[in-house]
Amino acid sequence: MDSLIYQSATKLGQLISSRQVTSEEVAQAHFDRIEAKEHEIHAFLHVDTTRGLDTARRVDAALDSGEKLGPLAGVPVALKDVFTYTGAPTTCGSKMLENWIPPYDATITRCLIDADMVILGKTNMDEFAMGSSTENSAFGPTCNPWDTTKVPGGSGGGSAACLASFEAPLALGSDTGGSIRQPAAVTGTVGVKPTYGTCSRYGLVAMASSLDQPGPCGRTVEDTAALHEVIAGYDPLDSTSINHELGSLVEAARMLDVAGMKIGVVKELSGAGYSPQVLARFQESMDVLSNAGADVIEVSCKHFPTALGAYYLIMPSEVSSNLARFDAMRYGLRVGDDGNQSAEQVMRSSRAAGFGREVKRRIILGTYALSSGYYDAYYGSAQKVRTLVMEDFTKAFESVDVLMSPTTPTTAFAIGERVDDPIAMYMADLCTIPSNLAGNAAMSLPCGLSQEDGMPIGIQIMAPALCDDRLYRVGGALEALLQERWGGPALAQLIAKEPS
Ligand code: GLN
Repeated sequence: MDSLIYQSATKLGQLISSRQVTSEEVAQAHFDRIEAKEHEIHAFLHVDTTRGLDTARRVDAALDSGEKLGPLAGVPVALKDVFTYTGAPTTCGSKMLENWIPPYDATITRCLIDADMVILGKTNMDEFAMGSSTENSAFGPTCNPWDTTKVPGGSGGGSAACLASFEAPLALGSDTGGSIRQPAAVTGTVGVKPTYGTCSRYGLVAMASSLDQPGPCGRTVEDTAALHEVIAGYDPLDSTSINHELGSLVEAARMLDVAGMKIGVVKELSGAGYSPQVLARFQESMDVLSNAGADVIEVSCKHFPTALGAYYLIMPSEVSSNLARFDAMRYGLRVGDDGNQSAEQVMRSSRAAGFGREVKRRIILGTYALSSGYYDAYYGSAQKVRTLVMEDFTKAFESVDVLMSPTTPTTAFAIGERVDDPIAMYMADLCTIPSNLAGNAAMSLPCGLSQEDGMPIGIQIMAPALCDDRLYRVGGALEALLQERWGGPALAQLIAKEPS
């Protein structure tokens, strides 16, 4: 049943509901694949075999007795280790939460359970979702399945890598500055940051609350749409949840028609500083869309280049506040408590031991940016830039339906290459951050391979808030047009040709 792992999630759902295969067979095939691949990929921090197989058998029994279940019933999915899931550890890639078993499920987790999906386990990530390479995980890095000497992006490198290595057909991520889209781009997979407020943050361990957004990851645009439909919806447990019906995203992905759509190319995100191969693949995609009848025009969003700087003030400010809860008192790591230490001493030694370097760097930067006397100059100015970035989007969307850019300036870099150079690491987020600051929806999908290093390249689509369907309409059409051009399956399927 090896070939099951190469099927799309949509197809697996159909095979299961029509009883051509059992959910248990599908789950077992993925657990076998995980066992075979993890020694070289390390996409998972926790594999939930017993519970996963139990769920699969329950789905099989329900279907056998004639129950009607949803389209993804019995289909496996991997959960980034930033979402709580009762009965499994939620570590956020940090020593601080090592062995912490949450007492409640995130709303996103509940959505998967309610859709009768089989949760395979928890995926690796940069500590508390801070990073662009998954090298900041306290439990060791994840490797890019296309080339295991390269990073899989971050922070959700585990979720992207498990898709590209066929260990899971679907995965969940969280995107604060690009943690879904940037890993998708460098692993040849699809990732979507939904409109802020449309997928619940309840039970998503907070990094920067005004930016964090859960989202779906898949190998095809249609699969990603199907998962997006499962997780979107109003949640009274999330104070920023929006009560809005997004419409059928799967239908949008199946339209395969961009004729007459107006597509804006962001001038500031597709020029100097980008690898020539990234720009070449980007230009090819724009030509393909234009030949299919889309109206492609250049649009200026002049504050986008300043978004990165604003993000690296706003995000650490929120981080310093959110991570204050890890105080060694209620939960998490506690060290240095020999009975003679004050509470402050225990907090200090626990936070020193529990947090890694990047997390500490951001707590320090954020605390400084918020401190009296500096607040207006740093945090205040950054919020003004955020407003300017939002205004750029608003103005651009008056004349175009979607905006497009490369997702990342380069292909995946080598493991170790940027660990001592935070600024070089932060540059990976150049194109993804504007949509987090503004809250609108954005997708990354594969648009080809670099002819220099053979690594995948991603292209980004950005849509106005609450118009997530447009991502799927353009993404689905572009994916089909590019596949026609390559004469082959979706990009991630290319590595399925491996002999092992
Ligand atoms: N690379 C970004 C950062 O380190 C990604 C964060 C995220 O989206 N979780 O802040």
